[in-house]
Amino acid sequence: MAKDYYKILGVEKNASKEDIKKAYRKLAMQYHPDKNNDAGATEKFKEISEAAAVLSDDEKKAQYDRFGSAGPQGGFGGSSGFEGFSGFDDINDIFESFFGGTSRRNRKRKGSDLRYDITIDFEDAAFGTEKEIQFERMDKCKECDGKGYRKDSDVEECSHCNGSGRVTKDVRTPFGLFRQSATCNHCSGEGRAIKNPCKECNGTGKSSKRVKLNVKIPAGVDDGSTLRIGGEGMAGERSAGAGDMYIVVHVRPHKYFARDGTDLHIEVPISYAQAVLGAKIEVPTLEKPVNMKVPAGTESGTTFRLEGKGMKDVDGWGYGDLLVKVNIEVPKKLSKKEKELIEKLAGVKEEPSKSFLEKMFGK
Ligand SMILES: [Zn+2]
Ligand SMILES: [Zn+2]
Repeated sequence: MAKDYYKILGVEKNASKEDIKKAYRKLAMQYHPDKNNDAGATEKFKEISEAAAVLSDDEKKAQYDRFGSAGPQGGFGGSSGFEGFSGFDDINDIFESFFGGTSRRNRKRKGSDLRYDITIDFEDAAFGTEKEIQFERMDKCKECDGKGYRKDSDVEECSHCNGSGRVTKDVRTPFGLFRQSATCNHCSGEGRAIKNPCKECNGTGKSSKRVKLNVKIPAGVDDGSTLRIGGEGMAGERSAGAGDMYIVVHVRPHKYFARDGTDLHIEVPISYAQAVLGAKIEVPTLEKPVNMKVPAGTESGTTFRLEGKGMKDVDGWGYGDLLVKVNIEVPKKLSKKEKELIEKLAGVKEEPSKSFLEKMFGK
């Protein structure tokens, strides 16, 4: 009864453990007896589980590879070969026994994480702020403190596993009969059954609650950043810990400032006269405006750097810079007096286009 375990899982001979795990998971979902009533699927499920049990175990896999697609005569069968082989009462048990999980008995599921999207103004991102958010979540039931029952007399030992949380059963495989231990389905491995569930939460230990939370948003936070608030997610299973809350921060763009890391960019108009003669101009920053010197003969589009006038680094590494690009504004409307002055200026100064032509043609 030679079987090609690689073929069964549809993976290459050199497939990684991760690939094997993935292939198995996919097939196991497809052929899981909980989802299929026909015997063919159950057979198939056994087959892929068997293949995964061997290929996911380094030692068994090495033996299998050495002896080909052989059965127990190949050297790895027998009672010692397959303690890991699991049945199919609980798909999580199978994953655990194959891929090295922990016993379910003491493992309670942590609550799910939650996500909340918040949009703040640019200034709030620059200086930090505090926002109150409100949302619904499943919280620990107050009545029973998340236990699902109120008094100790409301629980009894699970009769299906006699309080051990696990049941053993015999599983027939191509290599013989194996005794296998699985989580008790009736008590989910708790070993106890609730006789009188808490009326408030019907024994789930959780109830829906509207929650208000104050969120501290640090100065320098960037658009798309995520803030994690530990323990503010959904309540966990029974006494297990709650999940986390992830706040995704969106920052509204500023009308004038553009952000690039911790640096800020701004464009400021200056007059022709200021550009030619030089000037001291006022430049807006995130706080109060500051004076900046524009040297005589500044070209339009020149960028100046104001150190430390940018955004605060969210991790506390100081401040970025403010990059100021000056643009010469050409007036569209002139008074009679202005026009006269400009015409006068045009008369004394050679036109740049003329000298350019001369340079080009050597005239
Ligand atoms: Zn039980
Ligand atoms: Zn309750």
